[in-house]
Amino acid sequence: MVASSKVIAAIATAPGRGGIGIVRVSGQNLSGFALSILGRELRPRSATHTRFLDAEGNTLDDGVALYFPAPNSYTGEDVLELQGHGGVAVTQMVLQRCLELGAVLARPGEFTERAFLNDKLDLAQAESVADLIDATTSQAAKSAMRSLQGEFSEVVRRLVGKLVRLRMLTEAMLDFSEEEIDELSVAQRKDGLKDLLGELDKTARVASQGSLLREGAHIVLVGQPNVGKSSLLNRLSGEEVALVSEIPGTTRDVIRQAIQIKGVPLHIVDTAGLREAQDKVEQMGIARTHGAVEKADAVLLVMNAAAAAKGGLGPDEQKIIDALPAGVPCVRVFNKIDLVGERQRAEEAAHGYSVFVSAKTGDGMDLLREKILSVIGWHQEAGVFMARERHVQALRTAREHVQSAAGVMGQMELFAEELRLAQVALNSITGEFTPDDLLGKIFSSFCIGK
Ligand code: GDP
Repeated sequence: MVASSKVIAAIATAPGRGGIGIVRVSGQNLSGFALSILGRELRPRSATHTRFLDAEGNTLDDGVALYFPAPNSYTGEDVLELQGHGGVAVTQMVLQRCLELGAVLARPGEFTERAFLNDKLDLAQAESVADLIDATTSQAAKSAMRSLQGEFSEVVRRLVGKLVRLRMLTEAMLDFSEEEIDELSVAQRKDGLKDLLGELDKTARVASQGSLLREGAHIVLVGQPNVGKSSLLNRLSGEEVALVSEIPGTTRDVIRQAIQIKGVPLHIVDTAGLREAQDKVEQMGIARTHGAVEKADAVLLVMNAAAAAKGGLGPDEQKIIDALPAGVPCVRVFNKIDLVGERQRAEEAAHGYSVFVSAKTGDGMDLLREKILSVIGWHQEAGVFMARERHVQALRTAREHVQSAAGVMGQMELFAEELRLAQVALNSITGEFTPDDLLGKIFSSFCIGK
């Protein structure tokens, strides 16, 4: 992919009313462009209070202009920022004037794409720009910032460096026959591989935590009517969102809600009770429950603590458990302990955990939060850099190749090839030799003006 020479422009602030509306322009040699719209020259990198003019010299808006000549700008090209009043019409008029002057409307993410193509950022950093903007919790935002500042890329570059050293050691041996390969080389390579596997595993662990912060986890709340699912959801989210009533079957539809526990975003799906429904609306809700369960990262199965005391799962709960896809962890929540005089506690079990709580008094809720995080695989709070599923996948692929290399130590050509493939996988994270269609897909998910 090659950077286009066209001048691009877009409104960089969110649509709607606001204190300030920013139109951003990027291209090669924008000094003439700036002169046309402002009627004056700008000093680089200083704020200039000025009018923004139409073709006849009438004032469209009055604000602050900033000019960043190449290469010291976000995109690496000349960048002009026009900060005016944050009204829908006035910002549009300024943008329109930029288009009259020859700019084309920027595609989503095109500013950042140019920054990437001009080597201002690598691909993992560029992706973290979008992830920072999309972050829904402060923990996710902090992690995205770490990636944006290059922490993840640095780890990947270190891994690539180790691979390259191992490859050099190998390439030098390619002309030797199997018998001629000395023990020192084998030992050195073995150590190198072991070290790499360890580092790859460590990085994959942190990256998967970062990916969890980005994507969040899908949690399905299931259970019989009236066991307290809506009350629990309210407790977990701290807001009144789900319908709470004494009549069984009032939580008819699937309610989705985004909450966070310790900064990890959770998409909670509260469902209709899984009993046989009489009416149509409720049946639809139940069908959706089954659909949601199939996509879940974890299930909260809510039961009455009184029922637990009477011997655990009834046939309905058993039906729900049987319907769960294999491997989806389940937290069984025994609610209403206040009514049976049980104490709050959590027990580890083959399915995940059993937690005894009261949505009414709040007892056991902290334990429940902790166990939810545990079953979705969150265990790291500090130092997580934001990563995407594609990065985790690339690290896995690299690991598979390094592992395969360990199996062909004596066959130098195969060994070298596996290392080369591992390096290709790692390089795809930071964007060296990344195919254009993948780049297109990544940048098109950005917002306009970024
Ligand atoms: P759902 O049908 O499973 O969503 O159940 P709801 O959340 O609507 O709760 C049903 C009833 O049980 C309501 O009257 C709640 O106030 C009550 N309830 C929920 N949790 C508790 C609890 O921990 N203790 C007691 N005593 N009542 C609860």
